[in-house]
Amino acid sequence: MQKEVSGMDTIVLKFGGSSVADNEKLKIVANKIIQLYNKNHNIVVVVSAQGKTTDKLIKEAQELSKHTEDREMDMLLSAGEQMSTAKLSILLNELGYKAISLTGWQAGIYTNNTNQNALIESIDTSRILKELGQGKIVIIAGFQGINENMDITTFGRGGSDTTAVAVAAALDAKNCYIFSDVDGVYTTDPNKIKDAQKLSALSYEEMLEISSEGAKVLHNRCIEIGNKFKIPIITKSTFNNKAGTMVSDIIEENTTKSIVKKDISRISIIGNGIIRNIENIKKVIQFIDNNKLEILELNVSESKISIVFKNIIDDEILDKLHNLLISKNPTQ
Ligand code: ASP
Ligand code: MG
Repeated sequence: MQKEVSGMDTIVLKFGGSSVADNEKLKIVANKIIQLYNKNHNIVVVVSAQGKTTDKLIKEAQELSKHTEDREMDMLLSAGEQMSTAKLSILLNELGYKAISLTGWQAGIYTNNTNQNALIESIDTSRILKELGQGKIVIIAGFQGINENMDITTFGRGGSDTTAVAVAAALDAKNCYIFSDVDGVYTTDPNKIKDAQKLSALSYEEMLEISSEGAKVLHNRCIEIGNKFKIPIITKSTFNNKAGTMVSDIIEENTTKSIVKKDISRISIIGNGIIRNIENIKKVIQFIDNNKLEILELNVSESKISIVFKNIIDDEILDKLHNLLISKNPTQ
């Protein structure tokens, strides 16, 4: 029986490589999917290659040749994601839930001709909608599509996030969840700074700034697509039930959201409207003075202050700056 599929009832769930690394992890993922499916959602799942599969495939190819062809690399790497989809579908079917795995091209994802870094040009959702209409959980291989020559293309490292958000946009889905082994986006690197706090919400703009400073939470392009089509993106852990971080078009003025350290002497302070937050800017200048730091370069934009120092910025300085601008901030 074929039912009408509405975008409002549709959610897209993306699971990263560490979430699908082995059969045990796949069972955790399957249970998460089933819980949401049982709440009457149409479910589209996008998966990455298992664990370090992509790294392994690249290494093996490079052992065969120093001049790997991009087209052949796409053929090879896209297989990693396909394995995850088939395994997850086999498991869901075994658990009594109707599921179907689709490659990027079977899911109707058309790209330009740039192998290894392809851009999505259009998505023909008819196959996805047909399968959803039959009550199936649709599992799509991330990070891949097909070009006009019917050759497989891939989207660059981390590109499965982009598949997920682009499919969510094409289906006009309610939300796109990006599940991984981290709880969400933090005010600074939680591995280095113990006071780092998980953020409950961020604007697309802020998330783009955080990503462009090197934080590898989300693939840059997926944030741009989310912003363009206004798809809320929720990053969450696969392995607990804590609320994640929602990236959407809701804008909070004058809150410092994140301090990111890139390289050894560059720090960026991110938050919407930071350019108008004179008190904050004064605090930063005072901090630089008090800690006898020397500035090589300073850039201020709508939502980011970036400073390159002459000095090496160690974790202690980062911690102090975080305390000054974020930890004591009651709105966090
Ligand atoms: N498997 C690809 C990578 O490792 C794509 C992805 O995980 O999103 O980069
Ligand atoms: Mg990823």
